[in-house]
Formats: sequence, C-alpha cells, structure tokens
Amino acid sequence: MKATKYVYSFEEADGRNKQRFGGKGAGLAEMTRIGLPVPPGFVITTEACQEYYANGRKLPKGLMREVEEHIKRLEKKTGKFFGKPESPLFVSVRSGSAISMPGMMDTILNLGLNDGVVQGLAKATQNGRFAYDAYRRLIQLFGKVAMGLDDTDFDVILREAKKRSGAKLDTELQSKTLVGICQDYKRVIKKELGREFPQNPLKQLEIAIEAVFGSWMGKRAVDYRKEFKITPDMANGTAVNVCTMVFGNMGSDSATGVAFTRDPGTGENVLFGEYLVNAQGEDVVAGIRTPKPVLQMKDEMPEQYKELEKVRHILEKHFHEVQDFEFTIERGKLYILQTRNGKMNAAALVKTSRDMVKEKLLTKEEALLRITPDHLEQLLHRRIDQKAEVKPLAQGIPASPGAAHGKVVFDADQAERRGMLGENVILVREETKPEDIHGFFRARAILTSRGGKTSHAAVVARGMGKPCVVGCEEIAIDERNKMATVNGHRLVEGDVITVDGATGCVYEGEVPTVEPEFGPDLKTTLKWADEVRTLGVRANADTHKDAAMARKLGAEGIGLCRTERMFNAADRLPIVREMILADTAKERQEAIDKLLPMQKSDFKKILSRMQGLPVTIRLLDPPLHEFLPSVESLVWEIERLREVKKSLQQIETIPDSFKVIIEPTLQKYVPPIKHVLGELSQIKEKELFDELLQKKEDILRKVRETSEVNPMLGHRGVRLGIKYPEIYKMQIQAVLEASAELIKEGIDILPEIMVPQVCTAQELKQVHKWMDEIRGIVEKKYGICVLFQFGTMIEVVRACMRAGKLAEVTNFFSFGTNDLTQATFSFSREDAEKKFLPLYNEMQILMDNPFEILDIKGVGRLMKITMEWGKRSNPKLKVGICGEHGGNPRSVEFCHTLGLDYVSCSPYRVPVARLTAAQAKLRETRRDKTELEDPDYPFNVFF
Ligand code: ADP
Ligand code: MG
Ligand code: MG
Repeated sequence: MKATKYVYSFEEADGRNKQRFGGKGAGLAEMTRIGLPVPPGFVITTEACQEYYANGRKLPKGLMREVEEHIKRLEKKTGKFFGKPESPLFVSVRSGSAISMPGMMDTILNLGLNDGVVQGLAKATQNGRFAYDAYRRLIQLFGKVAMGLDDTDFDVILREAKKRSGAKLDTELQSKTLVGICQDYKRVIKKELGREFPQNPLKQLEIAIEAVFGSWMGKRAVDYRKEFKITPDMANGTAVNVCTMVFGNMGSDSATGVAFTRDPGTGENVLFGEYLVNAQGEDVVAGIRTPKPVLQMKDEMPEQYKELEKVRHILEKHFHEVQDFEFTIERGKLYILQTRNGKMNAAALVKTSRDMVKEKLLTKEEALLRITPDHLEQLLHRRIDQKAEVKPLAQGIPASPGAAHGKVVFDADQAERRGMLGENVILVREETKPEDIHGFFRARAILTSRGGKTSHAAVVARGMGKPCVVGCEEIAIDERNKMATVNGHRLVEGDVITVDGATGCVYEGEVPTVEPEFGPDLKTTLKWADEVRTLGVRANADTHKDAAMARKLGAEGIGLCRTERMFNAADRLPIVREMILADTAKERQEAIDKLLPMQKSDFKKILSRMQGLPVTIRLLDPPLHEFLPSVESLVWEIERLREVKKSLQQIETIPDSFKVIIEPTLQKYVPPIKHVLGELSQIKEKELFDELLQKKEDILRKVRETSEVNPMLGHRGVRLGIKYPEIYKMQIQAVLEASAELIKEGIDILPEIMVPQVCTAQELKQVHKWMDEIRGIVEKKYGICVLFQFGTMIEVVRACMRAGKLAEVTNFFSFGTNDLTQATFSFSREDAEKKFLPLYNEMQILMDNPFEILDIKGVGRLMKITMEWGKRSNPKLKVGICGEHGGNPRSVEFCHTLGLDYVSCSPYRVPVARLTAAQAKLRETRRDKTELEDPDYPFNVFF
C-alpha cells in the first residue's frame, strides 16, 4: 500500500482545492503556478490535520519524513540550509483552512534561527541589530504560539530593556541589548516550561506544525465556527503553510505591505493599499508605525511600484475577482505572500461588477452571482455614515433597514400631530397595533422594545420601507409618563435619537447618514438580472403612491392590493362603521353607496399608475371588528358619559340647597350658579347625553356581537362576502367601473380580482355569479367590454387539497403564505414568536422561523402539490405568491425552482427579488440533473 501523501510543494498543490490546501495554501500554489514571485515553500494538507486528531493528537506517521524531504528541496532551490550559520534557511509557518478564520494559530516568522545561526546571520548581513531582533521575535512568538507560554513575561523583559537603554521604540534598541533580551527570553521559557527553546530547526518546525493543528480545536476557533455556522463540509481541519522567509526589514530598499487590486471602498479601478519601508509583515497590521498609501511607492520605489501594477493585473486576470494581497520587498526584489478575494462594501461590489464585465474579466452571469442580496439591501436605504464613530445606546433586532434620526414620541397620535407639523419623529413603543398605523405614516422610523422580526411593527415598517428596530429590550418604556430609560440614560418626548434598522442599533442624538445609491451601476446590474430571470416580480401596494414607487423599483405589476387599507383612511372609517353597524339592508346600502365612488377613484388611480401592467385587487379580507373601536374603549366612554350626566343632576340641586342655608355671604352666589345651570340644562333638555349614550351603547352591542373568540379563523375573507354580498358587490362594481372609465380614456389596464380565504369552489362560484351580473350592468352602462382576470388566494389547507376544482373556475392562484404557514403548522404567528419559536430555533427543532423563511419541506410541498393539481385541470393557470416570503432571497429561489409565474413583495424588496430571481436561474442552469434529484438538494420537497 502506498502511503498517503501529506506534503505538497507550492508547484505541486492544486490551487483550486481549498478544502485540501486551505485558502492561503491554494492561493500560494495558484500564484506560483502562474509565475508570480512567491518565495518557495510547501503545504501540509488538511487531511494530515484530520489524521492528527484521529490519532489522538499525534502527527501522522511519515509526515515529518515528508517534511524533511521538502526542506531538502527548499535548500536545493534556495542554496540556503536549515541551521547553517553561513547561509541559513528561514521559514514562516502559517495556518489556513478552507474558510479564513481568525482565532487559529498566529504565524511564526523566522523559524530556523538558533544561537549559532543568529551569529552567522549577524556576520553575513553585517547587521547585528537585524539578526538579534529577528531572533528575539522568533523566541517570543514561538514561546507564545507554539509552546503556549503567556507572553506577559516577554513584554516585561522588553519594556525593562527599553527603559534601561533609554529607547522609546523597539527599533531604537541596540544589538547588544537585543542579545541580552534573547537570553532573558530563553531563560523565561526554561523557567516557566521546564524545557529549552529548541535549537534544532527541524524540531522547531515539528513543534510548530503540531501547534497549528492543535489550534484548529482551540477555543477561539471552535467558537468562531459555531458562531458563523461553519460545518465540516465547509472547512475540515487546517493546512500548514511553510514558506521561505523574505525580509522587508533589511534596510531602506526593503518594505512590506498589503494591497487591493481595486479600491474596496469605492470600487475604483486603481491599486489601493499601504506599505511600510524597512519593516516586517506583522508591523503593518500591528499598527506600531503608520503605513503610507501605496501610491507613494511611485516616487519612493518606482521600479517596484510598476511591478506591483503588473501583479495587480495578473491577479485579476487569473482570479476574475478583486484580490486582497500581501507583499514584501527584500532588497529591491518583490515577493507576493498571500492573496484572497477582496471584501468590499456594497457600492464597490456593484461598481466592480459592472466594470469587470466591461473589461471582460467577468461575464454578466458571474457579475450577478457575486452580489449578495444583503449587499443590495444596503444600497437601497439610507445608512449610518461609516465615518461617524459613535457608540450605540442600545441594540435591538434589525427589522427593516435604513437609518433615520428624529424626536422621540411615545404614541401614534403624537407622531401624527408632530409629523404633520413637519417635525422628524421616531415612534417608540413597547409594541405596536393596527390602530397605530396613522403614526407610522408620519414617523421616520419605528422602535419597539418587544417583538420579533415578524411583529406588527416590523411587518408594517418593511411594507412602508421605513427603518425599524424591534425587540430592543434594553429600553424600558413608560408609555403613560412618556419617557424611557436605556442603560441608565433617560429619554423624554422630544429627545433626538437615531435608529439604524440595518444593524438594530439605536444612538443618542443625530448621527450623520448617507443617501441610498440607486445609481447607474446598480441600474445596469438589475437590468442584467431582468434579462436572465424567468420568475416575474411584482409588488404589494395598496395606494397609488406605493404603486408608483413599486414601478420605479422595477415591479412588473401589483400582486396584492389590499382594499382594507383604503377603508382605514380617516374620511372613510366613519362610513365603513355605518356600513358595519347598519341594522337594515337599506341602511347598509346607504353607507355602501357612499363608499362606492371612493373605492372607484382609488382603483382608477392605481390602475392607471400601473398602466400596461397587471394589478391584483383583493376583495375585503379582515374581520369587520378591526374597523370598530374596542370594547374597552367603548365601555370607558360610556361610563364617563354616565358620570357626567349624574354630576350634572347633582349640580342642579345646589341653588335649592343654598336657599335652605340663610347665609347672606353665600346667597350672592346663587344667580351665577343659576346662570351656568341654565346653559347646562339646555344640553339636558335636548337630551344630547341620552342620544350619545344610546349611540355608544348601540355600537357596544354591535361590537360585542361581531367579536369572535378567534377572529383570524372567524368571520373574514370570502365568508364575510357571502354573508354581506353588498360589500363584495360594491367592490366588484368599483373595480369594473374604474376599469370601464379608464378603457374609455384609452388607458391600457389589466385588472385582476382576487378572493381571499377561499376553501371551496362553491364560494368562488357564488362570487363569480355576482361578478357576471355586475359586469353585464357595467358593460351596458358604458357600452364597452371589460376584460379582467379572476383568481383566488391559496391560504387555507383545504383550498390546496381542492386545487383542481378551484382552478376550473379561476385564471390564477396566489399563495398567501403567511396564513398558509399558520394553517400548515397550526401555529398562531404572534403567539409562536412570542412564546416558543425562539426556543425551537435554539434547540434546532426548527431551523428557521417559518414566517420569515418559507418552510420548503412542509408549506413548500403543499404549494407544489397545489400547483400541479391546479395546472392539471387548468393548464393556463397562473400561479404567484404574495406575502412577506415573496421578498426573502431563499424563498424567492424556491419559488423559481417550483416554477411559479411571479413573486410579489413590498416595493422596497423588489430589487432584491429581481436579483435573487436571476441568481436562482443561473444557479439552476449550473446544476446538473442528478443534483436536482438528490434528497439533500435544498429545494427538493419530496424528501
Ligand atoms: P494572517 O493570516 O494573519 O494574515 P499570515 O500567515 O499571512 O497571517 O502572516 C502574517 C504576516 O507575516 C503577514 O504580514 C505576512 O505577509 C507575513 N509573512 C508570512 N510569511 C512570510 C514569509 N515567508 N516571509 C515574510 N513575511 C511573511
Ligand atoms: Mg494571523
Ligand atoms: Mg495574511
């Protein structure tokens, strides 16, 4: 049996195999292969690391023999030798796994130095300071990193030596002092560990390799993998890179630095970076001296700068990605020591995507795939200016991105009032409710101390594209007294705070923010996305303003227009209440007749805004009591009214009581009291109180009648439509008349009427019958033909099971996945999120919150079956999804795989959906068939 090969020279290693050689090793191998000046070296594979642990923390047999073999090769190549004082070989020992991971072992530099070699080095370089400084660094790093010594002892020695010799900086130390420091360092090791600092370079190397492997299971590395969910199939063990040392600290013709092939802040196509003359690699990062911008090399080291420019182009041409690389110049000669894909901010990522396509470094497809939805999201909202160095007061859950500052207000009325006056306000509450909606309109941001990402505040704010932070538990809010305390800090109404919905941070005062950048680069990239994607993207929009925004952001229609939002407007609510509270059909009709023109004008505005694009209008959905005042508030008002009435009666007796007391000083008050009473008694005579009381009591009775134990499963949606046909009929008439009038104006419209909460085809047939009747009347009245689509929401499990029948009477289905998720799990969303979902996630009983990320295995499977059955009986059936999942990247990808016609999400998420839909398509074409049938394929619903 041939023994496993664990060690590969940079020439031999496969630069595409990061799993095996780690990111750093793969990069070094790849750069060597394409002829960049990498100092020679070798990589020990991650398999050796796995083997090390399989053996109970012992180096695999034969590994060190292989290592020695490779050291011999290095010696041959460089003409330098391990442990030979006249021409010594030095190496660095560096860790590196498939995913870069802070927390693993620090790099050991200058390995190969010992008591003999250091003297030789001092002589050969004529520079004792350099030689002993290198030795000092090795002993210190090796003692700490490889032998596990606490380095405070070293620090003390160094500090005292500096003090004794009057040196301020390390670099001012004389070689004599450094010799002494080396001796003291070695003594500390001996004393603390009972072992000598190893003099044999091969022994040093062996210990260092073991230390690198050991660091894979170090606490910091393990915690890091846990935090960022790095699984063994992403990175399994660390490789060890052994690389010939080059020295950037050999004088003024030497230097070290790090550079990016493009500016990672702006994306500009220029070399970007920093360097230090006469320094070793670590000095740049350590911040001991301030490095200079790399552009300055143009003057200081023009030759090397030209070379760097060349390297920059070679790297990009090879990796097709912006690179972040390390370099060192030893006596005028440039070496490259590391390269990896550069991390950029969102704007730079988008700009480089567009530029690199122009430069033919990337295809459009590659350019699209490298932009993450998160990055895109950042670009679409105002953000905190990175230059502002501020500390947050508190941090909650980031629920809707964007940053805004404003004055704190603690209730929706106040938010509305101050907002109308043009003040910037931030609505701060424990949690929000539907009746706070008017406050949302005027607030610039919402902050709550309770609730999760799908709480009312979060959902509504996202829908409106307003910054929102929820669940910020560090803030204790006292709504009654209009104040809050945060970590010992008091906030009262009117205090200014800044809220960052992208990070969840809350700041005191006004923090500067920067504009969202919907610039030409982003527009171009999104245009490419549109060319690629096959999944349609629509928006949920309830008003013509939302519709305009949706269109601007690239929506191809409205997938959900909720008519109840229109009912909630201040001028409509009283009429809606009249409609609900009517005792007779005639009374109800009167109210409805008033609503008809209002709805018609709303629909006209939205339909014409979306000219040429489909608009799905959903008939009334929520339970009626949502439009009525609450029982508590009514009871309170009635009590107050009764009290006032009683007080009034009591006051009336006062003049008579006065007459009984024959006290002249009091008598003079009788006429004024009588005067006041005179006016008050008018109220009484007109029986205003009784009338008001009567009215309130009537409302209370009605509210009690309509109240339900479980309203979300109660009298709502089409069930309401069936019981009160006048309401649905009015809405249908409004849509059809609006359409007819627009057609007459020559406007191209595509209305779609959608029925919510359907569970049986019979419900649909009933609504359809009314529609036919009304259509006949409208067409006759206007003398034209009105075309529209008729469809149903799919949000009830029974509707899924009866999909074939429902499809026979409809043109389209739209999955309402919020309700469908509740119905599939039998979870009430609010309760689940408050009570047990976090625990479920933590215990990994459920991996995600199914209200945020569509549950593919359950709800997704139901969707697949529904779609198949639906299309079987109506092959022309169009199928879409509306509801929050429509804007979630993973869920969008699933919808694409499922073959839906479109997703519909809040306008602000439309760009994200456009990008992810394109990425889904691209990833799909890159997958082969077997992968699609693999049970582990994430979108495979049947396993
Ligand atoms: P990190 O992962 O923290 O960047 P590295 O292994 O890249 O660790 O090394 C730390 C520093 O040491 C870097 O500045 C690097 O350039 C430098 N370095 C590593 N190996 C060598 C070498 N063989 N010669 C000179 N400098 C080196
Ligand atoms: Mg490091
Ligand atoms: Mg590095």
